[in-house]
Amino acid sequence: MDRLAFLDAVRVAGVVGEGGAGFPSHVKYAAEAETVIANGCECEPLLHTDQHHMLRHAERIVHALCQLKESTGAKRGVVALKRKYAQATEVLRTAIGNRSLDIALLDNFYPAGDEQVLVREVTGRSVPPLGLPLHVGVVVANVGTLVSVAQALDGVALTHKYLTVTGEVRKPGMVHVPIGTPLSACLDAAGGSSLVDPVFIIGGPMMGRLVDSAASLEKEVVTKTTGGLIALPRGHQLHVNATQPVPHLRNRAAAACIQCRMCSDMCPRQLIGHPFETHRVMRAFGAGAELADEAAAQALMCCDCGVCEHFSCPMGLSPRRINQAVKAELRSRKIGYDGSRAVGEERTQWREFRRVPVPRLAARLGISRYMDLPVADLGTLRPARVAIPLRQHIGAPARAVVAVGDLVRRGDLLGEIPDGALGARVYASIDGTVCSLGDVVVIAG
Ligand code: SF4
Ligand code: SF4
Repeated sequence: MDRLAFLDAVRVAGVVGEGGAGFPSHVKYAAEAETVIANGCECEPLLHTDQHHMLRHAERIVHALCQLKESTGAKRGVVALKRKYAQATEVLRTAIGNRSLDIALLDNFYPAGDEQVLVREVTGRSVPPLGLPLHVGVVVANVGTLVSVAQALDGVALTHKYLTVTGEVRKPGMVHVPIGTPLSACLDAAGGSSLVDPVFIIGGPMMGRLVDSAASLEKEVVTKTTGGLIALPRGHQLHVNATQPVPHLRNRAAAACIQCRMCSDMCPRQLIGHPFETHRVMRAFGAGAELADEAAAQALMCCDCGVCEHFSCPMGLSPRRINQAVKAELRSRKIGYDGSRAVGEERTQWREFRRVPVPRLAARLGISRYMDLPVADLGTLRPARVAIPLRQHIGAPARAVVAVGDLVRRGDLLGEIPDGALGARVYASIDGTVCSLGDVVVIAG
């Protein structure tokens, strides 16, 4: 397929990176690359969404990856997944057939699915600090995103998502839903919670976002980047950790950090060679150092993976949350990182021995009992009402092209990319009437 036609089909369908923050795919894929990687590593414990895609949609993943390889001019195309996904590996091998794609099998460690860790594992090259995979000639695409790309090539817009619903629910499983579906409806599809007053995580247990009550969950909807919903007991360590106020974190950093540097030594960014020593951020933060301090500015290298606070720190401190607080402050004051951007190969020598095994991580997180829950097929939901945000991606919100009272059908355009802006189109996910319009388009069927 012609490169411009490929990119246009991806743009028109509103495809964004579904495994991360939602970067518009037509922009990401416009680059030239040496290697393209389909990322099926799904390292967050408890999530099965990418495995589901690989088992059910292998042909589409392979087709989209071949098109992406051709469009970027890449010499090498790789499907990367975990060695333990034996069935998915076989399905993918069959789908690949005699096409020129490799399969890379990774061990079951966290965060194998992090783009930069994956690039190092597959190519042996490290993305430079604060850089992108493209800086070493690589484009990475999540397997779920590639399924949406394959649909885009058939002229089908991104309107639906698969997500894992698990934890303290009566019937854990995989549900297929229109974008804009309330997450409370996804919980109901899984039989509701088995607890009276649960809390929830949207996404995975390591990097997901906490929602503090069932009432708050009513206001949350499925977006293009939602991959999971986990119900947990109130007071679970993940709940407690996520709700500690920043001043409390500062006091604890000042009082309890023993500067053992385990957080730095186990940090996946340091282990690919970045000059990132998060124990120095802890020291600077605890001591109330100036943000312009070189140690504090290192926080910008943190990818929020959570290994430090959920696995490394022997004192139960939260370097990740402290990095988040420091990063937010640095960005608001427009202070950047002007330290070294060199990759230090000497820092990578322990990488193989400091990978975090997922079962051990799950034990530390207190979620082992949910690890082997069955994954039922919960079918496709047909909600009577959806609330579709005009911004589900990095960049400018889509500009609404409908008005209150308009009749729309599934697949009709709701929001266009503003002229000259980075953004993504947004589409109706059900048939119905536009009954409210603002940052969110509400459609009632
Ligand atoms: S691992 Fe914990 S105690 Fe050790 S330096 Fe890091 S934050 Fe401090
Ligand atoms: S969250 Fe912790 S382990 Fe992960 S990149 Fe940031 S400092 Fe490193």
